[in-house]
Amino acid sequence: MPNLDLVVNEIADEMRQRPDRGEVATYIPELARVDANAFGIAVIDADGNVAAAGDSDTSFSIQSISKVFTLTLALGKVGDRLWSRVGREPSGSPFNSIVQLEREQGIPRNPFINAGAIAVTDVILSGHQPREALGEILRFMRFLADDPAITIDKAVAASEQRTGFRNIALANYMKSFGVIENPVDFTLGVYFHHCAIAMSCKQLAMAGRFLAHEGRNPSTGLSVVHRERARRINAIMLTCGHYDGSGEFAYRVGLPGKSGVGGGILAIAPGKASIAVWAPGLDNAGNSHLGRIALETLAKRMGWSIFG
Ligand code: GLU
Repeated sequence: MPNLDLVVNEIADEMRQRPDRGEVATYIPELARVDANAFGIAVIDADGNVAAAGDSDTSFSIQSISKVFTLTLALGKVGDRLWSRVGREPSGSPFNSIVQLEREQGIPRNPFINAGAIAVTDVILSGHQPREALGEILRFMRFLADDPAITIDKAVAASEQRTGFRNIALANYMKSFGVIENPVDFTLGVYFHHCAIAMSCKQLAMAGRFLAHEGRNPSTGLSVVHRERARRINAIMLTCGHYDGSGEFAYRVGLPGKSGVGGGILAIAPGKASIAVWAPGLDNAGNSHLGRIALETLAKRMGWSIFG
């Protein structure tokens, strides 16, 4: 078995030298301020060993990676009834597309495209005030990462709130079909804020450990979800975690993963490791360009693809 520390450091060096870095997201103005040269990686193996390199302690905006955790919470709250509000098929469409919603009666294709994640957020919000729902999401992240210092970047949330016209359209459109229960402003407020949670690669890899180990944190023994649920969340990450780049990610990396427009990717090597990478430049599908290449290299050198 190759030495994980060595592989992770090699990858960070290789990524630092690459000239192709993708384009930093600008549609959320606050995200455009991030340094395109940043690169971080953290891998936590089954024994809890952390292999990290580059900017692995720097916080970044997790954006859509938060959708993995809101999906987990919503499934905990309403179980399989969630699937009457959102599907679980890949969309083959961009992350913020509205076209499928009209044909499919306002039911989003999956929980990871924006429309689906907004519907999932609405499920978490029902019966609560926005502040309470957001508090629940943040507490969950702090618990999983075992770090009470994790916070929301208010400037990023406010920036998206000011400019999130597409998401506002998606939410209103779903509301017209009765898919959104709460006032649209409340649901979107919670959505924009959970996307603006700031975490480092190390914190994110820690938070993802339960998905790599049948629903449990193997270091503490604490169960987060049943193993069947962990398996299913991983399946949705594999098929839908990179929007219309999900097929390409499965083909190249061969691991369940979820990207965010902040340039982060959480990837799961079942039974082996939880992995977080961060490189802010994105490809055409809105996924981290170097993040994907780093994960492809890691999966190959460690022999971690779930496809053998
Ligand atoms: N907050 C972002 C949006 O709704 C998330 C998109 C992403 O990370 O892919 O546009």
